[in-house]
Amino acid sequence: MDFYGHIIDGQEVPSIDGATMDDIDPYTRKPWATIACGGKDDADLAVAAARKAFDEGPWPRMGFEKRQAIIHRLADLMEEHADELAMADTRDMGKPITQAHHDVARSVWNFRFFADHARLSMADAYPMDSGHHAYSRLDPAGVVVAISPWNFPLMMSSWKVAPALAWGNTVVLKPAEDTPVSATILARLALEAGIPPGVLNVVHGYGPNSAGAALTTNPGVDRITFTGESGTGKIISKCAAENLVPVSLELGGKGANIVFDDADLDNAVYWAVQAIFRNAGQVCLAGSRLYVQSGIYDEFMKRYKVAAEALVKGDPKDPSTEFPMAMASEEHFLKVTSFLDEKSRSGGSILTGGQGEGWSVNPTIIVDAPSTARVVLEEIFGPVVVATKFDTEDEAVFAANNTRYGLNAMVFTENLHTAHRVSAKLRAGTVWVNCFFIRDLRSPFGGVGDSGVGREGGNFSREFFTEPKAVVMQIDNG
Ligand code: NAD
Repeated sequence: MDFYGHIIDGQEVPSIDGATMDDIDPYTRKPWATIACGGKDDADLAVAAARKAFDEGPWPRMGFEKRQAIIHRLADLMEEHADELAMADTRDMGKPITQAHHDVARSVWNFRFFADHARLSMADAYPMDSGHHAYSRLDPAGVVVAISPWNFPLMMSSWKVAPALAWGNTVVLKPAEDTPVSATILARLALEAGIPPGVLNVVHGYGPNSAGAALTTNPGVDRITFTGESGTGKIISKCAAENLVPVSLELGGKGANIVFDDADLDNAVYWAVQAIFRNAGQVCLAGSRLYVQSGIYDEFMKRYKVAAEALVKGDPKDPSTEFPMAMASEEHFLKVTSFLDEKSRSGGSILTGGQGEGWSVNPTIIVDAPSTARVVLEEIFGPVVVATKFDTEDEAVFAANNTRYGLNAMVFTENLHTAHRVSAKLRAGTVWVNCFFIRDLRSPFGGVGDSGVGREGGNFSREFFTEPKAVVMQIDNG
């Protein structure tokens, strides 16, 4: 089996104590790679390398134009290695290979976008009446710890690493323990592209009492950007507060998808299927609560069930597979199936779906569950949607907002007024109207409530990954 090490100070290394972990392919349920398993010592070493590269190395000092060129070279190399990167995520978490390729393309775009965005950004100037002139500089923040989840391994890592590097920071990336391989490949390619040693470090390992916790408590860190579960976000937030380190948290979700009577039915059904069954529902943005207006409910549900059942299921490595016959891990499979029992549904029934072969869960639609049911309240993070009928707009908005999460929502209607009015009323970081998943990287991305703190994307990432500095100059001494 291939071995994937940490990347620290430009070298691929095993753990200091030699510890390793098996990397399990959830479709075969067998190990397919061996990974260095880091602890506190490895994490501290990586932070020290990033600190030295930031304090003494060329990366923060070389200017935007050179960094832009090097980051584009990395993006080129990622395109050349797209098959390897996509297969790594597919084997690590069972993501269908066509979707993994899509993630690679999005990751490449993250690097290209942020390299260009930083290069083209302008700082402010403040002409003063007093014979002085003030302007702002956007200096890099320093050492960034980036902790990513397992559902979009390469894409979530690149979403953090790309802006951090573009703004001149150095980085320690800790990918999720279940999906480590693409991070090591990325860091190897970064070195090949000319990103200096110590600028992009990767430490593998677990979270609590392990590499993850050590990274979030290390006083040599200047920023922490985390994507993962809301509970983990709260723990990391406390650690960051101890060292007064700014933290960006992109957390869980329970997306509401509201379909009004006047919606384009084909479009709404298509997106309602994508919203919960893509990546087997292991998506923070998943449309896991579906609210359909009473006039179209029966027709919509008939079509929705047919479309869900028609998804091509199979081996994630097969390019024709639309829906993977594997959840990301055994632990996660057990979590998702725990939501299918009678108690979690509180009287709701399963219209289609349920547990599949191996570690898989079929596309599952639950109907008639009360708003207090566990399946309605908690993030399942699997291919399980709860469909509910509604009569009035107020009723739908109340139900959609009746959650501790607030990452995203969707509205399907052909009425412009309804679209704008309801979008304004929804408590969510992103509202999609008549579409889903479409992103403009300049727009804010993040959530309210238990879905997170802060926003990333475009200027929002710039704010997080830089330290603005005011420079005030006397320009008229006459
Ligand atoms: P997780 O919180 O279990 O783990 C995420 C990462 O944090 C992993 O790398 C893990 O090793 C690390 N970690 C865990 N405990 C830690 C600790 N105490 N200190 C430091 N690091 C620690 O989340 P997950 O199961 O990998 O990911 C799924 C979750 O991520 C879901 O809740 C999903 O909604 C969320 N998510 C959110 C977004 C978003 O943009 N809002 C995107 C993707 C996933």
